[in-house]
Amino acid sequence: MINYNLYFADALASLRQERRYRVFADLERIAGRFPRAIWHSPAGPRDVVVWCSNDYLGMGQHPKVIGAMIETATRMGAGAGGTRNISGTNHPLVGLERELADLHRKEAALVFTSGYVSNETGISTLARLLPNCLILSDSLNHNSMIEGIRQSGCEKKVFRHNDILHLEELLWAAEPQRPKLIVFESIYSMDGDIAPINAICDLAKRYGAMTYLDEVHAVGMYGQRGGGVAERDGAMGRVDVIEGTLAKAFGCLGGYIAGKAELVDAIRSYAPGFIFTSALPPPVCAAASAAIRHLKTSNWERERQQDRVARVKAILGAAGLPVAANDTHIVPILVGDPDKCTMASDFLLEEHGIYIQPINYPTVPKGTERLRITPSPYHDEAQTDLLAEALVDVWQRLDLPFNERALAAE
Ligand SMILES: *Cc1c(COP(=O)(O)O)cnc(C)c1O
Repeated sequence: MINYNLYFADALASLRQERRYRVFADLERIAGRFPRAIWHSPAGPRDVVVWCSNDYLGMGQHPKVIGAMIETATRMGAGAGGTRNISGTNHPLVGLERELADLHRKEAALVFTSGYVSNETGISTLARLLPNCLILSDSLNHNSMIEGIRQSGCEKKVFRHNDILHLEELLWAAEPQRPKLIVFESIYSMDGDIAPINAICDLAKRYGAMTYLDEVHAVGMYGQRGGGVAERDGAMGRVDVIEGTLAKAFGCLGGYIAGKAELVDAIRSYAPGFIFTSALPPPVCAAASAAIRHLKTSNWERERQQDRVARVKAILGAAGLPVAANDTHIVPILVGDPDKCTMASDFLLEEHGIYIQPINYPTVPKGTERLRITPSPYHDEAQTDLLAEALVDVWQRLDLPFNERALAAE
């Protein structure tokens, strides 16, 4: 008899041994009290402050978003009733795709069940439709893009992260008539650094390549209407395909691509990850549309988020904590050790009521383990001061290095 369970137990044991086994905190978010939540700890429920949510602007709890979801569920029910091929497209989904095409000033948009799926099936389908396509991929691209590239079966060349000289070398070496697709992100979520979008578009133009840009960590937060870094940098019209999520700054669920009408129609017609899976529920579509529409005209959330981020970076930096510098809303604090990173997160939660998920390998390279803090418009000054005190306490207890220069300048 084969003991099948043994294989799973072994796989888990090796993760534990490599210190890569993940444990999730059981959290209950409280609508209207963002960023507060209840942590269902082993000892019972406790109030905590969440500092690592990717509901970056708290839109998941915005009254307009909740209102649209409830109103639509009351009128249309919960689910979509299946795939769009079988059951038709629900009306709020049509409206959502129009909203997204308008957000990015593109001819069309197509919604998928997640940002992950939009990259995986969008990139693989797009590349397969181009004969003998060569894909040029940034070395720090997200797993969903890497999977999409792999599934396309196309040849791939990886360029060093944000290195346009290396990208140009690869483009220059390729056959001029060969279709080429450059795949990259605008904001890389672990370091919070930004791609040189215009410079990459210049190269794409010079060498006749297409561009596919993941704006998952930027939509809603950058640009005059929340169209992302490409909007902010005046490059939206130069990028061929913009991909985004409805699950982070827009606070709901789902992913999408936006581009020219024929390109989007071809992906709609050929992508298995679109065709063979059920559509997003109407209440989710209506809620996402409400979030996008709100953020097209309201700059309050964006400005307030940037203000909070600047304050958090300044206070943690002045306390000598090793804050990695960048120009975005992501605040990485380097730990550089997987066990200490997990322990730091545990201490923060258990002793300070602060939730910050540890980020370890394989999400980031070994030796660069970190805490990743994402201040929102709703984190107040008292919470920020408590965060700094808690981190200093944890740093001292775990004997983690402080930034001496910052302390000397005090
Ligand atoms: C989170 C993430 C995705 C996936 O989006 P979901 O909507 O959460 O599936 C895609 N790309 C990047 C860079 C991400 O961080």
